[in-house]
Amino acid sequence: MWPWSSQNRTTTVTCLACGEEIGRSKAREYDKYGNRWDREDKAFEYLCKDCHRELCPHPRHGLEDLLVELEAGERDQEAFLRAYLLTVQKRQDRVEERREWE
Ligand SMILES: [Zn+2]
Repeated sequence: MWPWSSQNRTTTVTCLACGEEIGRSKAREYDKYGNRWDREDKAFEYLCKDCHRELCPHPRHGLEDLLVELEAGERDQEAFLRAYLLTVQKRQDRVEERREWE
């Protein structure tokens, strides 16, 4: 039913970032919900390897959750950005504290 279940080698996907067509087997899955393990009823988006590398220079674990938590797009931009920066700063402080103790 879905192309990825058929193991079809000729299946191509389109890179989300640069629009290049690439073989499915060479693409990196990108799940905007940050959960690649729950595959039910989902269509993944794809990135080519180059874009995947460029787009992921930093750990972004929890970013999507953070945006939801801060109601991205649902309050005015300035308030959102202030809350975002504050939260990110707090999280980084935590990471640095942990490093000092390791
Ligand atoms: Zn690309």
